[in-house]
Amino acid sequence: MSNKAKPFWETKTLDEMSQTEWESLCDGCGLCCLTKLQDDETDEVVYTSVVCPYSDVDTGQCKDYANRSVNVPTCVQLTLERVAEFDWLPDTCAYRMIYRGQGLADWHPLVSGSSKTMKQARVGLTAIPVVIDRSGINYEEFMIDKP
Ligand code: SF4
Ligand code: SF4
Repeated sequence: MSNKAKPFWETKTLDEMSQTEWESLCDGCGLCCLTKLQDDETDEVVYTSVVCPYSDVDTGQCKDYANRSVNVPTCVQLTLERVAEFDWLPDTCAYRMIYRGQGLADWHPLVSGSSKTMKQARVGLTAIPVVIDRSGINYEEFMIDKP
């Protein structure tokens, strides 16, 4: 039997993780930066392929992460409570996967040791055709299935 210690995401729940561990769970897929529409009556959330103008579509990363709340007041900061509440987050989102007890996928950089595996698995913003948000855009023309 191997004595190798299990990684933190296999031994800790989300609320037991340190801030550094919590931050490292984000694989930077950028899918949560896509604009969503919410039905007024049913609350159903539908994704669009329109992405926030601060998103670097070549990498999926935020171009100004430190100031994201100032740049985009509606930019959501994930908390423990929100991970549980936001079932609209992408199914591949590491926080939701841990929350659901599924663990991390093989392609997650923490597991594979490389960000290339996300591209190979075609996970993230870089794997789908996106449109940069602009004024006057009709979001309903860009509705897509939940990533
Ligand atoms: S969907 Fe989840 S893993 Fe992907 S960028 Fe957003 S918070 Fe990070
Ligand atoms: S400000 Fe950055 S983190 Fe927030 S939605 Fe835009 S690209 Fe994503």
